[in-house]
Amino acid sequence: MIDAYPYDAPASQTLFDRASAIVPGGVNSPVRAFKSVGGTPRFMLRGEGPWMFDADGRKYADLVCSWGPLIHGHAHPAVIEAVQQAAAKGTSFGTPTPGEVELAEELVARTAVEQVRLVSSGTEATMSAIRLARGFTGRSKVVKFAGCYHGHVDSLLAAAGSGVATLSIPDSPGVTGATASETIVLPYNDLDAVRKTLEAEDVAAIITEAAAGNMGVVAPLPGFNAGLAELAHAHGALLIMDEVMTGFRVSRGGWQGLEPVNADLWTFGKVMGGGLPAAAFGGKAEIMSRLAPSGPVYQAGTLSGNPLACAAGLASLRLADDATYAKLDATAATISGLAVQALAAAGVEHHLSVAGNMFSIFFTPHRVLDYDAARGQNVPQFRAFFHSMLAHGVYLPPSAFEAWFVSTAIDDEALTRIAEALPVAARAAAQA
Ligand SMILES: *Cc1c(COP(=O)(O)O)cnc(C)c1O
Repeated sequence: MIDAYPYDAPASQTLFDRASAIVPGGVNSPVRAFKSVGGTPRFMLRGEGPWMFDADGRKYADLVCSWGPLIHGHAHPAVIEAVQQAAAKGTSFGTPTPGEVELAEELVARTAVEQVRLVSSGTEATMSAIRLARGFTGRSKVVKFAGCYHGHVDSLLAAAGSGVATLSIPDSPGVTGATASETIVLPYNDLDAVRKTLEAEDVAAIITEAAAGNMGVVAPLPGFNAGLAELAHAHGALLIMDEVMTGFRVSRGGWQGLEPVNADLWTFGKVMGGGLPAAAFGGKAEIMSRLAPSGPVYQAGTLSGNPLACAAGLASLRLADDATYAKLDATAATISGLAVQALAAAGVEHHLSVAGNMFSIFFTPHRVLDYDAARGQNVPQFRAFFHSMLAHGVYLPPSAFEAWFVSTAIDDEALTRIAEALPVAARAAAQA
């Protein structure tokens, strides 16, 4: 057992002060700021396998993995080599390049997608998929589910998960009333609500996380995703499956590898970029071919299909074979099992929620099927738990509304550290 690190982190705090003077909130993406857990966000200098090393010389077993992308852990030699080789040949051309074809072929080979377009972020992927769905159907309205996060697209920020949930932002100033009125928010896992809505309104698309991971992990109930496809198609709407988080993490093909669903469009990001900015949307050729330049729905990007990002993504996906997913599943089962054991021993009410190898612990005794239930958890207990884990060298998501992510790099040393930290953190939660 390591000696606990102090709560204060002076070197990170100095960097955070400098950043806060000139960057809103000191960070370039809100949840990094530790606002909901308090304390100093850790500035990382380096990663290696399962570990991250911060500015104060501390070492953490990483259960965030850059919020999902790093299924092989930090600085995997094959990924680094691929990026170095690509960089040496030039960073961007503004012309098509072979790597884009290879990455697109890899995505098509692993999924039900027939055609795919590469973009640079998950937000761009969902935004573009929504535009395409509207262009294809000639309709405006979009159904989304409370607690699902699809990036910071104007029309998808309503009742969003991730940082919006973490910071309890009720509605988003800057999103116009006109835009908000085109989004219909329904409870997750509630097919009846979807049925009633589609009977009453002309909807362009339903967008859903293939398995929700941004209100904490909430798996779709059996039949929910298939029911969405059926209802959408019965009413002339498209189904967009957002696999930005689940894609190539929970299986070779993503969530659709575990539960095939007749969706129309899918979005990907995170794992497919191997830690660099690459994302994609794709689906049925009949729909995708409506995109410019083959069709009239416009979508573009100066750095789309960037050679470095494609190289990192391809290297990462080529490493991700059946053994990878078996190891991710086993590691997730081990860590979630240890967490449950520690919390039970400390008498902390909790509910383990699992979707493939993604999981999170809700600090509530109740089963969580939707956002209302997720919000019912005891956040102060999570805070105490989080800070105890951090002090013992384990980096959890700094939010009670996020998934824990494992990598294949988690070895015996990292597992030992996690196993030793959990009981202490559980006792800290019990006292909160
Ligand atoms: C992370 C995420 C996004 C947004 O991706 P960015 O690359 O952060 O823009 C969209 N959808 C889901 C399900 C996500 O988890």
